[in-house]
Amino acid sequence: MIMAKPKPTEEIIREIKDFDNILVAGCNGCVAVCEAGGLKEVEILASALRMYFANQQKKIEIGEVSLTRQCDKEYLAELKDRIGAYDAVVSIACGAGVQFMAEMYSKMRVFPGVDTCFIGATEEKGVWTERCQACGTCILASTGGICPVARCSKRILNGPCGGSSNGKCEIDKEVPCGWQLIYERLKELGELKRFEEPTPAKDWSTSRDGGPRRLIKEVSQI
Ligand code: SF4
Ligand code: SF4
Repeated sequence: MIMAKPKPTEEIIREIKDFDNILVAGCNGCVAVCEAGGLKEVEILASALRMYFANQQKKIEIGEVSLTRQCDKEYLAELKDRIGAYDAVVSIACGAGVQFMAEMYSKMRVFPGVDTCFIGATEEKGVWTERCQACGTCILASTGGICPVARCSKRILNGPCGGSSNGKCEIDKEVPCGWQLIYERLKELGELKRFEEPTPAKDWSTSRDGGPRRLIKEVSQI
């Protein structure tokens, strides 16, 4: 899922302090799972903003909503009859949701309430770690299911650098060396010969290096 973390409240306040009617809009997708942008976080942020502005003796209306997803027009359309009552929206969806909201309601000021971080997984309660950088041409088949693009700090594709020590990456003693993980996994699978096979030069044009990407799937007309 896409991981995000709440922005500092002061940063959000700086953006919205001159508005009178604000809608805090959450998303019940990925950002709800990582406890950054779901209904619970909408309530928390809205309460924090109300308290702040009450202390400032500023009258401000703050509405709350959380949509099934903000990256789908059909769910964003649920706001069409009520969004006009607000001067601005703080969207706590991921960056895709914030942008889609701004595109769909182009006259509305839409501010991000979270920092979108990475594609990751739930390691344990309250701990999420990166697993994929959406490179567009997955090579997990040759690396034992462990991604060197996301899990090697240098994105090396042909074995570890000289900085790997005791299974940890040289950037941080808490970060496992991605290539050590790949080696251990291939060993477990009895596929260590893959470790010795050079990985061909990767075509990065399917990654962000090729510019903004899009996917088109033919839809059945039946
Ligand atoms: S190889 Fe690419 S698509 Fe596959 S997990 Fe890594 S970054 Fe994601
Ligand atoms: S120590 Fe391992 S994870 Fe860190 S940069 Fe080197 S090969 Fe990559």
